[in-house]
Amino acid sequence: MTTTVPIPTPSAPGRPRGLSPQQQRRLLQTALAREGAFAAALAERQLAAPRRSVLRVLQLNLGRLCNMQCSHCHVDAGPDQAASQMAESVVQQCLEAIRRLRPQVVDLTGGAPELHGAFRRLVLEARRHGCQVIDRSNLTVLLLPALSDLPAFLADNQVEIVASLPAAEASGTDAQRGEGTWAASITALRQLNQLGYGQNDPDRVLTLMSNPAGMALQQLTACDTAAWRRRLAEQGVGFDRLIGLNNMPIARFLQQLDDQGQVGSYLEQLHQAFNPSALCGLMCRDTLSVAPDGRLYDCDFNQMLEVELGAPADGARDQVPLSIDTVTREQLEQRAIAWGNHCFGCTAGQGSSCAGATASS
Ligand code: SF4
Ligand code: SF4
Repeated sequence: MTTTVPIPTPSAPGRPRGLSPQQQRRLLQTALAREGAFAAALAERQLAAPRRSVLRVLQLNLGRLCNMQCSHCHVDAGPDQAASQMAESVVQQCLEAIRRLRPQVVDLTGGAPELHGAFRRLVLEARRHGCQVIDRSNLTVLLLPALSDLPAFLADNQVEIVASLPAAEASGTDAQRGEGTWAASITALRQLNQLGYGQNDPDRVLTLMSNPAGMALQQLTACDTAAWRRRLAEQGVGFDRLIGLNNMPIARFLQQLDDQGQVGSYLEQLHQAFNPSALCGLMCRDTLSVAPDGRLYDCDFNQMLEVELGAPADGARDQVPLSIDTVTREQLEQRAIAWGNHCFGCTAGQGSSCAGATASS
């Protein structure tokens, strides 16, 4: 049955022109009236800039290969990104880092992380060391014939699935992700439900991750969650949690904004919606983002912009850049976080992180 469902292909909207990290940083810096606006926003409110705390989440970006090519993608992922996949030598370093760092959570992301040949090895090693494992899935990848046994593997290993689904209806979802995405996603969700996901089982957690269209800010309320539950129940689908993210002005979405001459307006909107209480839940405080080449970043967004980790706790510079090969928990604690204007995307309104809102609006 799954093979009859059309898998969305690269015909989806949002063909990237491919801004380099440097071009993106320049665009973001010049779009607001002054440079360093995020640090200034903290200073104006007499807020101390948050620092890194204890490492909790090790987020591994396995590469940008994806079966889809969504218009809002902040990593420029797509079917033509096979060369960006994490090399086996770095996979080995990540396996060793799981043993050494003992994070509470190992968060596998991409692209579509399931397409990496080491995906299952990483899951098994993380589970063996008692880590909670998150698979950031686009759902449609689970329908690929080559991965037909993957949903059962995920269920058997108590992997939490954080599934992207922009909207609770076909048009909003397909507009961002490509024609046929909604139908394929619903098929995948039904399969996951049959395996026990989305039924309030703590070992089979199914989280849906939504994002607004275009420049709108995410504003999920309890009523929205109830409406999602109703609409998906009509499709025979249940889920455990609904979270929402703001669209980050990075990569393909930044490109779109630039094409429309809207980079400044969007950043100004995020700036105006700055919510100090969103600072507490910023993911950069307890997450370490590992790039496919083993380099380390404060978050996935900084990774895409190639913004290096913030300075060590003593303010000195690292003798050599930290890497997943050798980094220790102690080297991370109390480090500064490398801010940029894109950080307003994480602190606008309800706040936004890989775990959803970081504050109430
Ligand atoms: S948003 Fe997710 S599913 Fe879409 S292209 Fe990017 S990585 Fe792939
Ligand atoms: S983009 Fe967000 S998660 Fe990354 S450093 Fe800025 S505030 Fe932190």
